Amino acid sequence: MSRLKSAEQSRIERLLIVDDDRPTRHLLKAVLEREGFEVIEAGDGVTAVDLFARERPALVLLDVVMPGMDGFAVCARIRELDRDDGVAIIMLTGAEDLGAIRSAFEAGATDFITKPINWTLLTQRVYYALRASALNREVRQNRLREASARHIARLVFWEWSLSDNRLHWSDDPGRLLGLDERPIEDAEAFMALVHPEDRSRARRAMRLMREGERHLEVELRLYLDESVERLVRLVGERGARGADTNLVIGAFQDVTEMRRTESLVDYLALHDELTELGNRRFFLRQVRERLHALDGQAGALLVGWVDIARFHRYNEALGEEAGDWLLTRLAHRLMQQLGPLEAAARVGGDEFAVMLVDADLEEAHARFERLLFGLRQPYFVGEQECVLTLTAGAACHPDHASDAKQLLALAQDAQQLARVQGRPQVLATPQINGARFSEALAMESALHLALDQQQFFLLYQPQLDLASGRLRGVEALLRWRHPHWGLVSPAHFVPILENLGLIGDVGHWVLVEACRQARRWAETGSALRVGINLSVRQFHEADLCGEIQRILAETGCDPQLIELEITESLAMQDPLHAIELLSCLRKHGMKIAIDDFGIGHSSLEYLLRFPIDAIKIDQAFVKHVTTDRGSRAIVRAVVVMGESLGLDIIAEGVETLRQCDFIEALGVSEVQGYLIGKPMSADEIDALMRDFTRPGVESPPPEKCPP
Ligand code: C2E
Ligand code: MG
Ligand code: MG
Repeated sequence: MSRLKSAEQSRIERLLIVDDDRPTRHLLKAVLEREGFEVIEAGDGVTAVDLFARERPALVLLDVVMPGMDGFAVCARIRELDRDDGVAIIMLTGAEDLGAIRSAFEAGATDFITKPINWTLLTQRVYYALRASALNREVRQNRLREASARHIARLVFWEWSLSDNRLHWSDDPGRLLGLDERPIEDAEAFMALVHPEDRSRARRAMRLMREGERHLEVELRLYLDESVERLVRLVGERGARGADTNLVIGAFQDVTEMRRTESLVDYLALHDELTELGNRRFFLRQVRERLHALDGQAGALLVGWVDIARFHRYNEALGEEAGDWLLTRLAHRLMQQLGPLEAAARVGGDEFAVMLVDADLEEAHARFERLLFGLRQPYFVGEQECVLTLTAGAACHPDHASDAKQLLALAQDAQQLARVQGRPQVLATPQINGARFSEALAMESALHLALDQQQFFLLYQPQLDLASGRLRGVEALLRWRHPHWGLVSPAHFVPILENLGLIGDVGHWVLVEACRQARRWAETGSALRVGINLSVRQFHEADLCGEIQRILAETGCDPQLIELEITESLAMQDPLHAIELLSCLRKHGMKIAIDDFGIGHSSLEYLLRFPIDAIKIDQAFVKHVTTDRGSRAIVRAVVVMGESLGLDIIAEGVETLRQCDFIEALGVSEVQGYLIGKPMSADEIDALMRDFTRPGVESPPPEKCPP
């Protein structure tokens, strides 16, 4: 008794005593209070029910025979009020009144005690009853918990009797599946719900169980009606002994949502959220699969790596949202150009990878070039037109590697090489790729010293004014003479200077040197306009306009003699900034020329809204002007539009007289190119000016001396 008691003592339980006989009530109360219970009492049935409803005691001691509402009626009423809480009700019956005992249980009593009361027995019974009802409560709660867990897990237990094929369920599986009233009473009724495509698999699993297989595990689609399809998982275990061997007991779970979430998680783990392209991991998997499929067969697979140069600038200038938008547009264009077996991925913030599959390598490469061409077409962010500067590298199977990771790494190396060499695109050649790459790195370190060691100098290329036949200006062209490598082309090293962040210093040096030279020529009476190239980085320096003015002041150069050349794509990268800066430069007397015009992709009309003085037509058009009508049409269009805006039109790269004639006939005002003179030193320009005659024009014959 003491053990039982101590188990219950931790909590003071409230008991209700119901008896019309006051002395019995008092005695009961005294005994139970001595045991440490809190006791409340009622002298009739109605008060008892009332008290119960208010106080919710843990146990009721209830006399059967009472005037008015008797003990059975009170018991039944209390059970109603109690619902599932399982309060313990001990009835006090007359001795040996078996009929009363039966009625008591029927009314919902937990136990009974006969009168006259055996007091020792009473307290024991009270403890037992309390403990039993606590256990009952726990069992009930566990059941509830289990049912709700089953509900949450969308799980139903089942039992399949192999002897008669019948199914028994712990809950209605129809409710779980959202079917109204469709009992699934045997295996055949269940089979009728299985998706036709999964039926043979389901039958096979069932057959195996019948043939003695112990474990069942199968995932099936249930086809409930045209629009509803659910995915369910069945697991079961055949009974081990006796009659149980004819039973398969298991669980049935609706895993539709779970699988959907899983595939979403999978998707998110392998895809870039912004562009919805695959990520690096997914891309490598796709390349691996493709390589596997190609195994031994003819065909090329190209992996390309595309990088957007200085992408952060777009974010800074247009805002991150516009930056994101640009990335998604680029991704969209990429996807549009891919075939069904091909893939694209976002492998870095502003880096993308593509996989192209083609019959041969050359075609794959040509397609990659076309794809890049597409990506370089202008993007519109609202009204704003943006041209992205891309560098790319590519590596191919089978020529360069046959491993997905290696191909991607080679493509990335090739892209980096393209970046340092200032080329739009490089195709990997593994044998020499490493060597070329380290050469590029060596160039980077050499450039760090070049300015201090005075390895830079300027050459000047003359420009001829076609109307007057006189030299009108020169373009200052940077040269780097390395002690071992000799002369290095600016097309090679200027992009490296940009990437290294050295272009600011070198560009400053070029400006100072060119302005000094312009002043010297002005002082000798042969004022030549000097064209100076501006690089992307310089163009974006915060105070370029102020810096150039200071240089002009320091070198004493007339701003009118300076023509700053910027490229079309540079201006288009950030048109608002470009317009502001160009306006400032022009306001201070300098001229602006758009260099290499025609190779970018911006619209002519748009560009012409810029404050500029001259357009330099790209060499590519000049080269074909004698043979290609398209080139002529472009040159003519530029001339017409330029003339209407009062711009000078300079044709670059004029090498032959014939080209010069065509160019002149198309209305171009000035020419620059080897025909007039290669880039040369300032002294050589002096010499050229002294005895310059326009090519193709006979110099006057020497005067004949009179005999
Ligand atoms: P660019 O500004 O378009 O310069 C014209 C390029 O065409 C020069 O190449 C010049 O030598 C070349 N060229 C001129 N006439 C002919 C010709 O008749 N036929 C052929 N085939 N080529 C001709 P260069 O000097 O190698 O310069 C290449 C580029 O490097 C320049 O293109 C310019 O973008 C850049 N660059 C040169 N100097 C500087 C500089 O001081 N600063 C910056 N930022 N870039 C520079
Ligand atoms: Mg130029
Ligand atoms: Mg040019």
